[in-house]
Amino acid sequence: MPSTSSATAHAERGTRRRLEWREVGLVKDGINRKEWREQQPAWGPFVRHRQRSTPARYPKGRSARDRHHLAVLAQLAAAALICLDPGHGTIPSVGTQREPIGPGSHVLKIKDGGGAPGEAPVALAIAFKTRALLRARGYRVAMTRTRDGFAGGNIARAQFCNERHAALMLRIHADGSSNQSAHGFQTFYPALHRGWTDDIYAASLRAARDVQRAAVRATGAKDLGLVPRADLTGFNWANVPAILVETGYMTNPPESALLKTAAYQEKVARGLAAGVSEFVRP
Ligand SMILES: [Zn+2]
Repeated sequence: MPSTSSATAHAERGTRRRLEWREVGLVKDGINRKEWREQQPAWGPFVRHRQRSTPARYPKGRSARDRHHLAVLAQLAAAALICLDPGHGTIPSVGTQREPIGPGSHVLKIKDGGGAPGEAPVALAIAFKTRALLRARGYRVAMTRTRDGFAGGNIARAQFCNERHAALMLRIHADGSSNQSAHGFQTFYPALHRGWTDDIYAASLRAARDVQRAAVRATGAKDLGLVPRADLTGFNWANVPAILVETGYMTNPPESALLKTAAYQEKVARGLAAGVSEFVRP
């Protein structure tokens, strides 16, 4: 168990890291940073100062054990949040609606084409397994959807993760191809686009490298590498680092069969969790 001082220092580091992301993200939202800060409740994101000054505010005579418990609580409150976004599973009537691919864009794209055959349940199963592993490592985890019947688009998915100030938006998919022999694991990251992704580009690329490497190691899948994507609505609206893993091809019979097994889903999840922990500490 960590000592009180190292637990507090750890919590402060985590908070500081996320503060940096939040402050960068606000530029895209067009919100005046100072106004926004004033709107935050006292227990909100700017707990940095509270944490730093808390030890002095402890009533005299509080036991070492109480102080330790408070430090552990502070650490839990500051744990990095990973936002898991299992692809597809959208209500068809919503999926066919269109939305701008980036803030201010006139280019519209449908919210959800449904994905490759069998992809949505595979993505969801991997997300649940990843959530369990991340929680065991000390992360907080939010999921954009936990069942079928998602009623939003990719803007909504990004905003869900933005609002939670995620340390990473990890989008989980499986691919499809007219070439049945195509197989392997690849990771997309946002292409650099000023005003849309410049604030998240470098960290997203770093996350993509970490997660791709760890996932290939954990699964033994063919390494298809990293691909920058300018056309993904969920990236262009993200104010937090974002990547999308294509965990394999649903159109490749052997890989599709693997992806449908709990054992292989667990391997993928272990790779994703390992990659996340390379990218950001809990
Ligand atoms: Zn997909």
